[in-house]
Amino acid sequence: MSSEVVTLAHGGGGSLMRELLVRQVFPVLGVVEAGEDAAWVGDGLLMTTDSFVVKPLFFPGGDIGKLAVYGTVNDLAMRGARPLALTVGLIVEEGLGLEVLEEVLASLAEAAEECEVPIIGGDTKVVEAGRGDGLYINTAGLGQAVAPHEDLPSLARAQPGDAVLVSGPMGEHGVAVLAAREQLGFAAEVMSDCAPLHEMALVLVGELGTDVHCLHDPTRGGLAAALNEIAQTSAVGLRVYEAALPRQEAVEVACELLGFDSLQVANEGKLVAVVAKRSAEDALALMRADARGSQSALVGEVMLEVAGRAEVLTGLGTRRVLEMPSGELLPRIC
Ligand code: MG
Repeated sequence: MSSEVVTLAHGGGGSLMRELLVRQVFPVLGVVEAGEDAAWVGDGLLMTTDSFVVKPLFFPGGDIGKLAVYGTVNDLAMRGARPLALTVGLIVEEGLGLEVLEEVLASLAEAAEECEVPIIGGDTKVVEAGRGDGLYINTAGLGQAVAPHEDLPSLARAQPGDAVLVSGPMGEHGVAVLAAREQLGFAAEVMSDCAPLHEMALVLVGELGTDVHCLHDPTRGGLAAALNEIAQTSAVGLRVYEAALPRQEAVEVACELLGFDSLQVANEGKLVAVVAKRSAEDALALMRADARGSQSALVGEVMLEVAGRAEVLTGLGTRRVLEMPSGELLPRIC
């Protein structure tokens, strides 16, 4: 029996978390499509589950209720699945104001209505004061695949020559939550990008079919973790061009002051698409036509070199490894 313990860093979405999952979780549970945003069930159905522990419960641009719906819908969408139904589990700490709970649930219901997905069930537990943190939410999502299993986007389908696209600037969600939590005046104007992406994702898969190789939402660990996960799962290298990345100035300024790399900071309303080169321009046009993807950009390519890793080609023409963040940069941001 190991004497090691789980740390906050294990929840950060980086290499430590991946190690925990690969060594301690997946083999014990026998998870088949381990690491994918949602898993194939059979009969055209996909499933995902997610837990939300964000602190504070309300932040600029969103709240834990919206986050729970969008996060779950987005994980289904990244596998080319239309959301069919959600369940919601609430773990409430004794002492939480009823008006707070009401506000979160109203926001959650509104988000579900926006995504046209019914909440078909749930569960509520209450824990003693001091043993929760206000409210945690767990969800499960069931989705209807829009293509046969083998044609769905997957982290394992990136191929050398593919184009890499992102749907907008990176790092807004992480900076917005941190700014709200720590009352950082210099980042007060940054809003979370918290948004549903199923329309954009399903249009891509619907229009471009099997040319859409991977879709992934760069949540914890940011773009750096997302690209490394694709690189490792597909055994290819991913290169992004620094100059091509869309940027949000206020996020960059905040990251500079905090010593963060915005490419390692979480997003909750952005996707990364890896598509066959011949469909790159069409994918970009479809993404930009979506209001949530107006700043989409073609930012990189898939290579055989540096397989299993991601790198950035800087404005100076030098290459730097885009590290998978190791532990927690920002705990409790989703
Ligand atoms: Mg995801």
